[in-house]
Amino acid sequence: MLELISHVVKISSHRDRTEINSAMVDTLIDLFRPEQLTIYRCYNGTRKAMVFACAGTGAHGPFLRNAYLPDHRFCFPIERDALLSRCRKEGSTVLDVRDDGSHRVVFPVVRLDEPIYLIDLTLSDDFSPDNRITLMGLIEYFGNHISLLDYGEADTLTGLASRKTFDKHLLELLGKAAADDSSYGLPQRRRGSSSGNHWLAVCDIDHFKRINDNFGHLIGDEVLIMLANVMRQSFRFDDQLFRFGGEEFIALLQPTDEAFAFATLERFRRNVESQVFSRVGHITVSIGFSKLLPNDTPTDVIDRADEALYFAKNHGRNRIDSYERLVAANALTPSQIARDEIELF
Ligand code: GH3
Ligand code: MG
Ligand code: MG
Repeated sequence: MLELISHVVKISSHRDRTEINSAMVDTLIDLFRPEQLTIYRCYNGTRKAMVFACAGTGAHGPFLRNAYLPDHRFCFPIERDALLSRCRKEGSTVLDVRDDGSHRVVFPVVRLDEPIYLIDLTLSDDFSPDNRITLMGLIEYFGNHISLLDYGEADTLTGLASRKTFDKHLLELLGKAAADDSSYGLPQRRRGSSSGNHWLAVCDIDHFKRINDNFGHLIGDEVLIMLANVMRQSFRFDDQLFRFGGEEFIALLQPTDEAFAFATLERFRRNVESQVFSRVGHITVSIGFSKLLPNDTPTDVIDRADEALYFAKNHGRNRIDSYERLVAANALTPSQIARDEIELF
């Protein structure tokens, strides 16, 4: 009992998903000695649901991966695993008894009718009913803790990640970008990507003031909610989306080359253009984007993307501009930060 409480206290002391997962893995191993354990984070995309094995036990003992950045080597479509898939469909705990008598149990952690995590455990056959009740309680507690975290991180209007989590996400990405930079010789992590850069795009609704003026703020807010939905449908499961300000949104794209980043943003721009927003009709967005550099601060990269956005606004709106392309074409002069860096050498 005391052991259980001390584990719960440890889990509750964390506000970082990776650390919470780590504490949860320690707890499950200590209390239940599973033969196998994986905590999956779920990405419920519109086309297919993906899972990311972000913590657990493997052939070499416990493993822990950054829960904010799905690593493609450990992601797969959920339908590839029949039990995980069943758990998602049924929205409740599912069980498989194996030939050797061990039990594989998958518990869903559900939020807004969709599993956000799956906890996959293989337990030996002498698992007592008492143990089962403790385990279910613990998983419920884990789910409540994660839901509170989700609630705190999300923008209340659109449900996208909010501005206050942006710096943390970006710094995590930059840390990763720096690591990728020095990992010569490692296999490419992303199909078709030779350069493997992260990209940051700033998206601003065109003439949004007119929407508010003509239809009122409430309808304006409805447009923002619908736009967030179009955004979710247009990007990949592992691209991170934020509502950054009133009618400004940010997408942090996973490593890819500039042409692929442009194509993704273009798909989003077209989806917005063709969507009928109830009462308001059609709206458009302008987008500026830039490559993440290993030494960037969050402000550096946003400033560059903003410059490209400003260009798009001044050249007809409903278009996408890349900071790097504009600089290469002499349509923009490199920003002050970039110039300062050049002068150092
Ligand atoms: P532009 O094409 O140059 O972007 O024109 P714009 O009218 O969209 O100009 P701007 O981006 O500067 O204006 C943003 C407007 O968005 C100002 C404000 O009235 C409105 N706005 C900001 N936040 C919210 C919000 O949360 N809800 C609603 N309904 N409107 C908002
Ligand atoms: Mg604006
Ligand atoms: Mg605007």
